Amino acid sequence: MSEAVDCVVAGAGVVGLAVARALALQGREVMVLEAADAIGTGTRSRHSEVLHAGLSAPAGSLKARLCVQGREMLYAYCAARGVPHRRCGKLIVATSLEQIPSLQGIEARAKANGVHDLVWLDAVAAQALEPALQCVAALHSPSTGIIDSHGLMLALQGDLEHAGGLVALNSPLAQARCTAEGILLQAADGTELLARTVVNAAGLAAPDLARRFEGLDPRHVPVPYYAKGNYFTLAGRAPFTRLIYPAPEAAGLGVHLTLDLGGQARFGPDVQWVGDPADLQVDPARGDAFYAEVRKYWPGLADGALLPGYAGMRPKITAPDEPAADFLIQGPAVHGVPGLVNLFGIESPGLTSALAIGAHVAALFS
Ligand SMILES: Cc1cc2nc3c(=O)[nH]c(=O)nc-3n(C[C@H](O)[C@H](O)[C@H](O)COP(=O)(O)OP(=O)(O)OC[C@H]3O[C@@H](n4cnc5c(N)ncnc54)[C@H](O)[C@@H]3O)c2cc1C
Repeated sequence: MSEAVDCVVAGAGVVGLAVARALALQGREVMVLEAADAIGTGTRSRHSEVLHAGLSAPAGSLKARLCVQGREMLYAYCAARGVPHRRCGKLIVATSLEQIPSLQGIEARAKANGVHDLVWLDAVAAQALEPALQCVAALHSPSTGIIDSHGLMLALQGDLEHAGGLVALNSPLAQARCTAEGILLQAADGTELLARTVVNAAGLAAPDLARRFEGLDPRHVPVPYYAKGNYFTLAGRAPFTRLIYPAPEAAGLGVHLTLDLGGQARFGPDVQWVGDPADLQVDPARGDAFYAEVRKYWPGLADGALLPGYAGMRPKITAPDEPAADFLIQGPAVHGVPGLVNLFGIESPGLTSALAIGAHVAALFS
C-alpha cells in the first residue's frame, strides 16, 4: 500500500523550495523530493546571482510581473532573514551612438513593467561612478542587486522545515500516474506515494519528468532546448562596484560583468545552444570573443586576465530561432489533471522571481 501525503514538490532548487515554503506556510503538509544529494545543485549553482530589477521581460508577461514582485519580496525576505545580499545597482551601457535606441527600448519596457527608477547618465556622469568604464551613455538601475543564493535556499528550507515540511534528498521521482484518488508517485527505488497535489519544479528535467506522468496529455509538455551560458572569471580585482551590462543581444543579456558578494568579478553568460543538458565544460577558446566584447566597455582589461570559469544551462522551451518564451506555469485549468502544476522554462529571472512564483503556485491551490 502506498503512503499518502498532501503536497509533493519535485526538485529542491530555489524555485521548488520557494514553492514548498509557500505551500507549507498555508498550513499544508509538504514533502520535497530531490534527486541529488543536496539542495540547489541544479541551475541555481551556475548562474549570476543577480536580483534583477525587471527591465528585460516583455510587458504583461509572467516573467515581468513575477520578477518585479519577486525582487521586492526577496529584498524584504533577505533583510528579515539575514540572507546576504547587496543592492549594488547596475549600469547598462551604450558603447556607440547606434546602441542608444536599445537603451531607450529598455527604459520604455522598464516603465511598462512598473520600474520607474532608471536614471540616464551621459559618459561623464557614468565615468564619475565607474572611472574604468568606456561608454557614450548609460542607464543606471539602482534596484538591481546581488544575493547569496545558497544562503537564500538554506533560509527557504529552514522555513519549510519550521512549518512541518521536509526535503528528501537522493529521492528522484521516476514516474507518476494520475488517478481519481490523487497522483500516485513512484520514486526511482520503487517507493510509492499518493499525493493530492504535485508541483513539478525539476528545472531542466521538468519536461522529461512531465512526460512520465501517465494521464497528462503530452501535448501540454513543451519540447526542451538547452542554451548554455559560459562564464569567464577575472584574475585579480575588477575596478567596478556596480554590475555592468552592455546593450543586450539576442537570447541573452550580453557578456556582462557581475560581482559576487566578495567583490570577485565574472563575465558572462554568453549563449551557446547545445543538445546535451549535461554539457557544462567551458571551452577556453570562447575567451577570445569575451575579450572583444568586454573591451568595448572596459578597454583596460589586460591580456591573460580572463580564466575559464563555469557554465549554466538555460531550460529553454523555444528553439534558437524563436522568440524567448514566458515562464510556463501550467495548472489544472490548462491540462485538466487535478492537483498538478508543471513549471516549465523557468530561466532567468527565475531566482529573482522565486518567492513570487511560490506565491503564484500556492494561489493556484488555495
Ligand atoms: C546561465 C544562467 C544565469 C542565470 N542568472 C540568473 C540571475 O542572475 N538572476 C536570476 O534571477 N536568475 C538567473 N538565472 C535563472 C535561475 O538560475 C533559475 O531560474 C533558477 O535557478 C531555477 O531554479 P529551479 O528550482 O527551477 O531549477 P533548478 O535549480 O535547476 O532545480 C531543479 C532541481 O530539480 C531536481 N530534479 C530534477 N529531476 C528530478 C526528479 N525526477 N525528481 C526529483 N528532483 C529532480 C534537480 O536535481 C534540481 O535540484 C540564470 C540561469 C542560468 C542558466
